[in-house]
Amino acid sequence: MNNGNLKAKFQELGITNKMVEACKLPFQAEPEDLVDAGFDFFGRKQKLAVNAHEAWIEMRTNAKNDGLNIHIVSGFRSIEYQCNLISRKLAEGQRIHQILLVNAIPGFSEHHTGRAIDLHSGEGTPLDEAFENEPAFFWLSKNAAKFNFFLSYPKDNSDGIIYEPWHWCYQD
Ligand SMILES: [Zn+2]
Repeated sequence: MNNGNLKAKFQELGITNKMVEACKLPFQAEPEDLVDAGFDFFGRKQKLAVNAHEAWIEMRTNAKNDGLNIHIVSGFRSIEYQCNLISRKLAEGQRIHQILLVNAIPGFSEHHTGRAIDLHSGEGTPLDEAFENEPAFFWLSKNAAKFNFFLSYPKDNSDGIIYEPWHWCYQD
């Protein structure tokens, strides 16, 4: 999706220039080296950038060796996917400012890079703050950095994003 198309999309979704300017996140380009990352927790096909995929496989294997199953819930998401997600919520009657509290403006989600992954232990609800109490989260807190994965949105982060203990991003 090029810039002109994205601007038209913003207009369609009711995303104003003011909202874009207020966004503290950097613009995230989509990668050209996406690879098949198998199926997620819900059986949906996932893709990741090649380096992130290699590191994720290594990290998952190491966790498994320590007796922990860690599942991917979401990997790469295109800018277009993010637009459609917001579109659907608008159609369901949600207001744009409410939606943008939980969904990044299209173009500004770390998931566009193919390096961000949402993780789940298989216990409880995915994408829930309670994940911070799971052994999988303790393991990640201790070990993820060895595989170049870092928690993007810790408690009280300066990006103004809600605390996301499930969201980890691979840094080259
Ligand atoms: Zn995420």
